[in-house]
Amino acid sequence: MSETIENLFSEDRTFPPSPEFAAAANATPEIYDRAAEDRLAFWADEAAKLQWRAPWSKVLDDSKAPFYQWFVDGKLNVTESCLDRHLDKRGDRIAFYWEGEPGDKRTFTYRELYEEVCRCANALKAMGVTKGDSVAIYLGMVPELPVAMLACARIGAAHSVVFGGFSTDALVERINDANSVAVITGDGAWRRGNVVPLKENVDRALPNTPSVKNVLVVRRTENPVEWQDGRDHWYHDVVPAASADCPAETMDSEDLLFVLYTSGSTGKPKGIAHSCAGYLTGAASTHRNVFDIKDDDVYWCTADCGWVTGHTYIVYGPLANGCTSLIYEGTPNHPDQDRWWKLIADYKATILYTAPTAIRTFMKWGVEFPQRHDLTSLRLIGTVGEPINPEAWMWYHEHIGGGRCPIVDTWWQTETGCIMISPLPGVTETKPGSATVAMPGIAVDVVNEEGESVGRGHGGYLVVREPWPSMLRTIYGDPDRYREVYWSKFDGLYFAGDGCKIDDDGYLWLLGRVDDVMLVSGHNISTTEVESALVDHPAVAESAVVGRKDDRTGQAIAAFVVLRGDQQGSETLLQELRLHVAAKIGPIAKPASIVFTDDLPKTRSGKIMRRLLRDISEERQLGDVTTLANSDIVEAIRDRAHAASDEE
Ligand code: ATP
Ligand code: MG
Repeated sequence: MSETIENLFSEDRTFPPSPEFAAAANATPEIYDRAAEDRLAFWADEAAKLQWRAPWSKVLDDSKAPFYQWFVDGKLNVTESCLDRHLDKRGDRIAFYWEGEPGDKRTFTYRELYEEVCRCANALKAMGVTKGDSVAIYLGMVPELPVAMLACARIGAAHSVVFGGFSTDALVERINDANSVAVITGDGAWRRGNVVPLKENVDRALPNTPSVKNVLVVRRTENPVEWQDGRDHWYHDVVPAASADCPAETMDSEDLLFVLYTSGSTGKPKGIAHSCAGYLTGAASTHRNVFDIKDDDVYWCTADCGWVTGHTYIVYGPLANGCTSLIYEGTPNHPDQDRWWKLIADYKATILYTAPTAIRTFMKWGVEFPQRHDLTSLRLIGTVGEPINPEAWMWYHEHIGGGRCPIVDTWWQTETGCIMISPLPGVTETKPGSATVAMPGIAVDVVNEEGESVGRGHGGYLVVREPWPSMLRTIYGDPDRYREVYWSKFDGLYFAGDGCKIDDDGYLWLLGRVDDVMLVSGHNISTTEVESALVDHPAVAESAVVGRKDDRTGQAIAAFVVLRGDQQGSETLLQELRLHVAAKIGPIAKPASIVFTDDLPKTRSGKIMRRLLRDISEERQLGDVTTLANSDIVEAIRDRAHAASDEE
């Protein structure tokens, strides 16, 4: 039998939780048993921890599958779980410490946040925004961004956050797709000392977005902006003047909470629709268990609210758990490459949640930057967004976690709403590069082309066998595409689009997108495994590999490599890297070509866009580039790739 995806890379380092961590952890082994015994009862218990207005009549209704419904007939408003219920006992507790890129600081207690959300909600109401509307939010990482999200939720309007780094075109597309009636934006956003002209982008978008009637503008960068009276409203005029009392709209469990577009690594972004109750249940439960949230934690998730990680693990999960968070507005290298480590030391952050792309960038910059600061306040660190190569995991473990912090490598998607695969920090022994096992109450599996479980020691397609509360409900406005993309490949199984293997201990290893899997001389080789073998070499910080058409082998492996520190690419190093991959995982995986580059094409959330590298390698026109962050690098790589192929 031919393997759906080969299992080549092997990693045998293991890291059990320390006895001290395990003894104090929120999640104990019992949680897996409880969930396995009765999955629906487990989720009902988790949902019962939220604040409800009326109880549900049924935990799960699967009669219209794949349009599943959770906590049927339940009534709630998610902001009451996130804000109102904390006021009595922890109203004075800090919800957000916020630091701007220029160094300015603000804090919000739970009471202050509650009042600000109510005022903003009343201001939106005054503009005519009502339950069932959708509102686009296009801001940098200022406190008004979570405030705006919660204000929408308060009045029953769905928010659609568009990352502040996106262009006018991306904004137009998303506003029109979600039919947003208002836009909440800013004069500008700070990015590495420069102003991103948010309002100007919105002004350019509006002639093409007929649904938008009002624009609420936060003043941040103080650059001059154009103004249209009647349509445009300054946040600082209308919000502080509004009442700090805004009764929450009663929402059905299944009402739309938000729409969020995927990051576009594989193609045109999809508008993922999430509902109120199921989503918040998943967000709060996983946040509490995976991050082991305690009252004295200072938790920092470095994501932007433009991505699902910011939705679930900056806004909804942490606030539902009454947690104290740090939010930072800017980039990690402003004013210097140690900004993050300084923030951790200054705020004594205890939990850090970030992305492998950031970790690999820090590896490239060198250990001297984290070494400048005291990081001993950290007790738990995590990653999300891409597979983390074992060497990047080890670097994170050693240089950021000080060898003592458990690492939670969390696999999930915009579609899943919350973490699906992750270690529980006091329970699960970790292995560098593996997201370990499914979360309690989540039924993931790895299957072959026929939809059969591949079993331990094999690779295949990652699927979810049973519905879960925070699952997407549909693709906004396109239920057929929802069925087609997620439910048509395997009957009754949710198809995630990622490759995965299960090792002999039952641990899951994510292998990248199945669209990216390479077929070399009849072997299905995952991009992740070859990339991890390259990153395993001490000279390499980051790499991307793709399969390009080859007459002899079907596809040949084309590798793109970013070196650490001031290392230089050379013919000798190139041969050394090819041999390194061959030694690490086998001659079949040896790259046919290697191009040294300063950077890789990435989405604005920092994910490598392999499809563009494939286009370059096969000398095609580039596909959808609207979510590409660093367009210059594509040209640079194209030039180098051509030069390299001339030499072949
Ligand atoms: P699009 O669906 O538009 O191509 P995207 O999949 O990048 O965009 P997201 O929903 O932000 O958009 O990302 C989810 C994907 O990120 C997962 O399907 C997986 O490929 C990858 N991913 C996330 N976390 C991990 C992880 N811990 N390990 C491996 N891969 C991960
Ligand atoms: Mg995706």
